[in-house]
Amino acid sequence: MALRGGIDLGGTKIEAVVLDPDGTVVGQARSPTPHEGGPPAVIDALASGLREAAEAAGVSTDELSGVGVGSPGEVDNGSVAHARNLPDWDEAYPLSSALSEQVGAPVSVANDVGVAVDAEAKLGAGKDYASFLGVWWGTGVGGAIVVNGKRWLGRGAAGEIGHTVVKLGGRRCECGRKGCLEAYAGRGAMERRARRDVAHGEKTDLFQLMEKHGRTRLTSGIWARALEHDDRLAHKLIRRAVEALGAGIASTVNLLDLDAVVIGGGLGTRFGQPYVEKIEREMMKHLFVPERPPAVLPAGLGDLGGAIGASLLVEP
Ligand SMILES: [Zn+2]
Repeated sequence: MALRGGIDLGGTKIEAVVLDPDGTVVGQARSPTPHEGGPPAVIDALASGLREAAEAAGVSTDELSGVGVGSPGEVDNGSVAHARNLPDWDEAYPLSSALSEQVGAPVSVANDVGVAVDAEAKLGAGKDYASFLGVWWGTGVGGAIVVNGKRWLGRGAAGEIGHTVVKLGGRRCECGRKGCLEAYAGRGAMERRARRDVAHGEKTDLFQLMEKHGRTRLTSGIWARALEHDDRLAHKLIRRAVEALGAGIASTVNLLDLDAVVIGGGLGTRFGQPYVEKIEREMMKHLFVPERPPAVLPAGLGDLGGAIGASLLVEP
């Protein structure tokens, strides 16, 4: 029986999996996302990650029935544009044809958060709910909405909970506007804030921890360690992030009255259940109908959810 591949292309890492027809992961590989070299370097990294996962599964990539890729940025007909967290990737680049040529199998591409939320709907935390909101708390804050078992796409840009406004005239967001949820809760925004606060004389172990663990960014793991060390600045920034997430999620629930909220992404997955409960408490403060709150759950598929979700793009 034919195996299929799935790749989650993230801003910091590339996760590749090979699945058998039952959906069991039979090979996997993880590698860092290149920081330079533009789209061609990223395509090379995707191909070598997939080769490694296929090798672990005992096949070569051209034996796969197909490969799905979850990518950041705007995805249109196999091309990806404006992938802000990838190196020099602004103009549209034909990811699917370039990767397909290297691996010898058909490649489908879709939005990374969308495929991860589809996987949660089918196999994970969302499978018992007709309608739910997926919140992907990571470098940015992504989202997707499932309504009556189907993802609501709007005119193509639905689900951008990260750019709902949680404070009028608030902090500047990467998107250029002010007061967006992502400006308070995105890992990238929190790191910029931490650097600014340090420049203004605030004390924190965040950056020592980063160097000690050989990182150049404040990864989810570094934030988690800083919280374990009771770092004051880390606690302050994460508390604000949790408050902002609670407000953004509550506003969405007030508008759509969804059955559940599923929280994933790099930070969401790393922090897990205890932080899901903190976000839920913040959400409750703003719910218009608090006696009938939605279920709030961590994503069920963990770190591999994005790659498994991407593999569902392959037609069986
Ligand atoms: Zn924004």
